[in-house]
Amino acid sequence: MLINILFIIKKEDIKRKILFPIQKRRLSVVKKTPSTSDKKLKIAFYWAASCGGCEIAVLDIDEKILDVAAIADILFWPVAMDFKYKDVEAMNDNHIDVCFFNGAIRTEEQEHIAKLLRKKSKILVAFGACAVHGGIPGLANISNKKEIFDVVYIDNPSTTNPDRKTPKTYVKVKEGNITLPAFYDTVKSLDQTVDVDYYLPGCPPMPDLIMNAVGAIVEGKLPEKGSVLAPQKSVCDECRFEKTEKKIKKIKRVYEIDKIEDKCLLEQGIICLGPATRGGCDARCIDANMPCTGCGGPTPNSLDQGAKMMSSLASILGVEGEEKMSDEEVEKLLADIVDPIGTFYKYTLPTSIIKRKVNKK
Ligand code: SF4
Ligand code: SF4
Ligand code: SF4
Repeated sequence: MLINILFIIKKEDIKRKILFPIQKRRLSVVKKTPSTSDKKLKIAFYWAASCGGCEIAVLDIDEKILDVAAIADILFWPVAMDFKYKDVEAMNDNHIDVCFFNGAIRTEEQEHIAKLLRKKSKILVAFGACAVHGGIPGLANISNKKEIFDVVYIDNPSTTNPDRKTPKTYVKVKEGNITLPAFYDTVKSLDQTVDVDYYLPGCPPMPDLIMNAVGAIVEGKLPEKGSVLAPQKSVCDECRFEKTEKKIKKIKRVYEIDKIEDKCLLEQGIICLGPATRGGCDARCIDANMPCTGCGGPTPNSLDQGAKMMSSLASILGVEGEEKMSDEEVEKLLADIVDPIGTFYKYTLPTSIIKRKVNKK
C-alpha cells in the first residue's frame, strides 16, 4: 500500500518537501556526485547490534517517508518488509545506490551482512551512534564474551541453568544441524569492519539530519567521502542556556538538585557533554533540563570525545584553591563521577583511543 500512495505524490511536493531543506542544510563541503533525478534511487536499510530506535527514526521523518519512497525503491529493509539475505546476494555489485546501516557489529552474522551490503552498495552510510562509534552496545567492551555469557545465561537471579549451558555456534539435533552466528569478544563500529562513505550520528539521528542527507543524495550534492553529515559545531554552540565563567566545586546528579536553573548545566555541577559533542540536535536534551550524554559523537577535529570532556571537566572542577587540595580531597571530588566509562564514553568506547578493556589471559 505504501508504494501505491507514493505514486500519488507529485514531483512538486517532492521539490518542496525534500529539496527545500537542502538549501538550508549545514553541510560544508559539497562535491558533485552523479545525479539521480532521472531514475528512482535504490536504497537499503539494515540493523545490526541495535535497539531498533534508528529504525523508528526513519519513520520519525513522518509524512516525508512518503516523499522518500516516491523517489526511491526500498530494496532491503528487514525490520519492515519481508526480504531475505539471498535477495541481496543475488544483486549485482553496486546495485544499491545507498545503504543506511544502523547498529554496531557484535556477531558473525552482522559482520557478514555488513560486508555483503558494502559490496552491493555504491554509498554506505553509518546511520546512528551504534554504527558510527559502536554506541551503547559498545559499552560491553568493558567485558568479554565469557563475562557477558556468565551474566546473561548463568549468574543471574531470573535464570535457572544448572548445566551452565551457553549458546554454541553449532549443535546437532535429531532433525538436523543448527548453526548460530558467533558472538564476538569485541563490539566494533561499522567502519572498523568495512569501508564507510558517510556518517550520520545521533542516538538516533535527528529527522532533520536524515532529510538533509536524503536531500543531498537526491541532488547529487553529497560532501566529500568520509564526511559526517551533521553541523561543524558543538552542542554548546546550539544551547540556549546562559553561559558564564565555568568553575564548579562539586559534581552533582540531576536528581540531587531541587530546582535546575536556566543556566548552563555544567556550571550547576551536572556533567553535560555539550562541549565535547557534535551538534545537530538543537541541544534538545538540555531544553528538557537533561544534560547532553554525547550521542552526537566527538566535536569536529576531536580525536576522543571522552578525553576531551575529561579535559574540559578537569579545567573547571575544584579550580578554586586546587593547589592547596590534598590527594584525598581530589579523590573525593572525582568519586562523585559515577560510572566514568558510561559517562564519558557512553556512545564511543569502540572508536575511542582505549577501545576496550584488555583482559589478562
Ligand atoms: S544509535 Fe541509539 S537509537 Fe540507534 S540503534 Fe543505537 S542505541 Fe538505538
Ligand atoms: S555544557 Fe551543556 S548546558 Fe552548558 S552550554 Fe554546553 S550544552 Fe549547554
Ligand atoms: S543534547 Fe547531546 S545527548 Fe541530547 S540529542 Fe543532542 S547530542 Fe544527543
